Amino acid sequence: MSTSKPVRKTNLLNFGHEALKQYFVDMGEKPFRATQIIKWLHQLMVDDVDQMSNISKPLRTRLKEETEIRAPQVMLDRESADGTRKWLFRLDDGNAIETVFIPEGERGTLCVSSQVGCALDCTFCATARQGFNRNLTLAEMIGQLWVARRSLQQNPRADRVITNVVMMGMGEPLLNLDNLIPTLALMMDDHAYGLSRRRVTVSTSGVLPALERLADTLDVSLAVSLHAPNDAIRDKLVPLNRKYPIAELIAACRRFVDRKTTQRKHITWEYVMLEGVNDSENEARELARLLRDIPSKINLIPFNPFPDTRYRRSSNNRIHRFQDILIQAGYTVTIRKTRGDDIDAACGQLAGQVNDRSRREVHFARLEQG
Ligand code: SAH
Repeated sequence: MSTSKPVRKTNLLNFGHEALKQYFVDMGEKPFRATQIIKWLHQLMVDDVDQMSNISKPLRTRLKEETEIRAPQVMLDRESADGTRKWLFRLDDGNAIETVFIPEGERGTLCVSSQVGCALDCTFCATARQGFNRNLTLAEMIGQLWVARRSLQQNPRADRVITNVVMMGMGEPLLNLDNLIPTLALMMDDHAYGLSRRRVTVSTSGVLPALERLADTLDVSLAVSLHAPNDAIRDKLVPLNRKYPIAELIAACRRFVDRKTTQRKHITWEYVMLEGVNDSENEARELARLLRDIPSKINLIPFNPFPDTRYRRSSNNRIHRFQDILIQAGYTVTIRKTRGDDIDAACGQLAGQVNDRSRREVHFARLEQG
């Protein structure tokens, strides 16, 4: 007897707006069906074709036969004392990724992952430890936003709304550009999430050819993980720097800023504060000189430790001294608040594996469900 594997249905969450138009055209339908479906999925957050009341019965029947709406499966959903919320998702192939929601006054930021693991091997990042596994699909990236928004809507609160998205979770988004572009486009699509380009940020260590392509395709905000004022230090922290050194990185960022159509043109530079590595007054002055010719905001990130790391977080005094020097040089400098570290949701702590603590929780959840 032959057991044929069930054919996987087409996942509607895996379509960008344009690709969905093509899908309907190939089906002999009108392209505007795509816009209707995009609205049902990403604006009205519907998970059932039968609720799509402006779609004809026969087309709904056909869609139910051929397609499904499948987001990554939530394995764990935890809320920190400070309101930060973290989801651990299980993907179809058994891999896991994490997504974090950070409420802060009027703003609610969702931190989205772009890859399972990461290939860049930055020496101060926990994700690097797990190595690179694979790129996330469009459905897996937009699915993080889709699930997070649906979960937050279950207990509606004005201070629990996703107003901003940052591609700052696990992975290097610019190494997954083909899936990233339609994902960002949906985030900014008025028929979908409708976020403005100021509220959608791609964070990168500086994959330069991909950065040029992104700039040619879409207008989003850019955050660059700089972490050092010179190549000698950056080579040690971000190995990618040996391929694309700081001078080239800054030149590429300059072109990115020049091509932007918004009024508010700047690069946000992320700078992790590592004791005795990159946090001296001289290094602050060197950084101030380095960024002199490019519109910049600087975001200092207190290092978040993880097991077996060789680095330590700079003291608050040192971080503030560093900040003062940059402010005196004329920069806008923020210090990132460390959020959600009681649930391992802080920057660089996302590891996407079921650690012992969460494994126990999953176990208990199963027991409770009987
Ligand atoms: N690969 C992309 C996006 C993911 S990381 C990038 O490099 O920008 C998001 C930010 O957290 C980056 O600036 C990263 O350098 C920083 N980060 C990584 N590990 C950290 C840690 N242990 N403590 C604080 N920030 C960290």
